[in-house]
Amino acid sequence: MESRPVALVTGGAGGIGEACARRLAETHRVVVCDLDAGGTQRVAEAIDGVGITCDVTSEKDVRACIDRIDAEVGSLRAMVNCAGIIQERAFPPETFDQDHWDQVQSVNTRGTWLFCRFAGAKMAALGGGSIVTISSVAGHRSWPTHSYAASKAAVLSLTRGLAAEWGRSGVRVNSISPGFTLTPRLKELIKVRDWDTSTIENQTALGRWVEPEEIAEAAAFLVSDSSRGITGIDIPVDAGWLCGINWLSFGGVPEGR
Ligand code: NAP
Repeated sequence: MESRPVALVTGGAGGIGEACARRLAETHRVVVCDLDAGGTQRVAEAIDGVGITCDVTSEKDVRACIDRIDAEVGSLRAMVNCAGIIQERAFPPETFDQDHWDQVQSVNTRGTWLFCRFAGAKMAALGGGSIVTISSVAGHRSWPTHSYAASKAAVLSLTRGLAAEWGRSGVRVNSISPGFTLTPRLKELIKVRDWDTSTIENQTALGRWVEPEEIAEAAAFLVSDSSRGITGIDIPVDAGWLCGINWLSFGGVPEGR
């Protein structure tokens, strides 16, 4: 059995999840969980962790994953719930494919709920832990990718509810809302779409995109004892997108002095 505290990172095979798994491996024994079997093993091996292939939408898979961690790895004390689907294109309600809507909800909302449900219950029984969910700036604002935005608003709501549910059991639950983050998948999208990246830069206070490692730093803080007085909140890691976007109505945020 492992002496370091055990942390689980869902969606850990790539992007923000991989960055979180690598960062948390500095302090924890990390279990990487993802649908992508090859990526799961690659990241788990790189950080001397454990890889478990799992579909976050499957109650059976999620239960089995939490049970396996308990039996084979050790007491689960932290979880970062990164598995998610970015709805890549905006569709008007009139033409929105209902299966696509359901798939986004299933991974982002149901998947978050299932992992929080079983991991949180385990942590509460063990006497404490810290859960970090991943929402998005899309959960805070009007957004044309209707299923994605609704799923991320749901994650904010689940986070607040579960924080109150398990607070007296020593389990803290907080979320991070990433802004536009330069993951390998998003970089590919920028290339394929020939996306003008300065559009996003102009919207943020800091004038840039977010790096996956910056989300991982916030996650490391939220699972650490340094945040022991914090629960039920959301930390946007968005390079100031939420505070900068409305300034476009006034000509944009000012240039550096
Ligand atoms: P990513 O690179 O696509 O990583 C997401 C991971 O989740 C992938 O490895 C994916 O596996 C996995 N996954 C998808 N469906 C799954 C399922 N049913 N069961 C288990 N794993 C599953 O995306 P990311 O950009 O790092 O996003 C991570 C989280 O941050 C998501 O919740 C996303 O909504 C959120 N976020 C991202 C941004 C951004 O700009 N990148 C901004 C705001 C919020 P496959 O590769 O096999 O699909």
